[in-house]
Amino acid sequence: MEHPLKVYNSLTRKKEDFIPLNPPFAGMYVCGPTVYGDPHLGHARPAITFDVVFRYLQHLGYKVRYVRNITDVGHLENDADEGEDKIEKKAKLDQLEPMEVVQYYTNRYHEFMNRLNVLNPSIEPHASGHIPEQIDMVQKILDNGMAYEAEGSVYFDVEKYSKNYPYGILSGRNVDELLSNTRELDGQSEKKNSADFAIWKKASPTHIMRWKSPWSDGVPGWHMECSAMGAKYLGETFDIHGGGMDLLFPHHESEIAQSMAANGKQPVKYWLHNNMITINGQKMGKSLGNFITLEEFFTGKHVTLEQAYSPMTIRFFILQAHYRGTVDFSNAALQASGKAYERLMKAFDRLDAIVPGAAGEFDVNKLSKDCYEAMNDDLNTPMVIAALFDAVKFINAVADKQTSMSEEQKIALLKIRKEFIEDILGLKHEGLEAASGKGLEDDLMKLIIELRLKFRQDKNFAMSDFVRDELKKAGVELKDTKDGTDWNKN
Ligand code: ZN
Repeated sequence: MEHPLKVYNSLTRKKEDFIPLNPPFAGMYVCGPTVYGDPHLGHARPAITFDVVFRYLQHLGYKVRYVRNITDVGHLENDADEGEDKIEKKAKLDQLEPMEVVQYYTNRYHEFMNRLNVLNPSIEPHASGHIPEQIDMVQKILDNGMAYEAEGSVYFDVEKYSKNYPYGILSGRNVDELLSNTRELDGQSEKKNSADFAIWKKASPTHIMRWKSPWSDGVPGWHMECSAMGAKYLGETFDIHGGGMDLLFPHHESEIAQSMAANGKQPVKYWLHNNMITINGQKMGKSLGNFITLEEFFTGKHVTLEQAYSPMTIRFFILQAHYRGTVDFSNAALQASGKAYERLMKAFDRLDAIVPGAAGEFDVNKLSKDCYEAMNDDLNTPMVIAALFDAVKFINAVADKQTSMSEEQKIALLKIRKEFIEDILGLKHEGLEAASGKGLEDDLMKLIIELRLKFRQDKNFAMSDFVRDELKKAGVELKDTKDGTDWNKN
């Protein structure tokens, strides 16, 4: 292709040609959810961002193995080495087995990702299902002298590591500062240096989740699962590692250090990070009262929300921003996105009924080229959407008989609809009541409306009136507008 896919690599801080290690295979690992609460907006953005990467790589012909993990152990409350395990804390609160919490929120996560039309990954490994692999890796790091044992826990020795490898290369943090900041440990800590992090943590006597290891009954450190499972399923070095920017430090920095210390190799060729979401200009947080779950978005039941927003509205809204830019949710912005999404889908729907004639003034090849160039420029979905809106004007003008399109133009536009709107951006139709999952009803109504249109085009008005009258008896009213035919249930 004229313009190969370029991605922005957080490790080198520049856009690079995407050249996988083993074409046509491409391996991608993305940090998945810690399953202790209902899926919220913060889950939607990385899921949708890397869903588009997954879809586009497949579209380009790569055989992609996409691994997205489920964190079900080892993620402590304060994201560092102290505090309770998030899952265990929730289990105690709800008086459940930790694995009941894990199963419930994993199911919820899948349900909501489905509604957002996020494809399932190729492999979805659980941290708790890969304890032996993590223990092996901890042992390797100990054997290589870059970790130490203290009171049954094992800590990564940042100072020793930094004598062999550059610590901080991903996040740009200065290792000397990190180390000198933390000399004044209070003597209570088992760590030599507070920059060190646990790779195995001894469980306290009351801790429910625990596994046997050479050092103690305990749990792996949070960062360990991604290093171990990434290497297991994608190899010691693989193509893409993704996640939210909030994971860059310490999680991803630690992953690099662990893999280098264990295997002596950089684990990842391209590090991709999506930016964060704010709500009305504020960071999302439970204490700020603006923590909105996906269920609340889809039903509109949250004090911040003026109405319900459908899954495709949320998806479209996220795709209207470049993944490395920030996104700010507001009612006004979401309402505008919902309208734009409708306009785009409706216009491309009208294509089906268009009878080709003379070619109109619209360069479909340029549109296709613009879409590819935008995607290849670090997955610039807002540019793709902007290009698609050029076609919206043309299709509507043809459907309104102000101009015409040739058979070739129609076929090319149908191909763009299939490839860019459906396959790559992952946008799909939703019924009027999409929020309650009535997609089939809408699909059937679309079919009936198309049939009626065909009767009218064939000047079979008796049949087209029959369709309208029978629908009316069933309580469905058709309304012809300039954008096509709408329907309403009485
Ligand atoms: Zn991870």
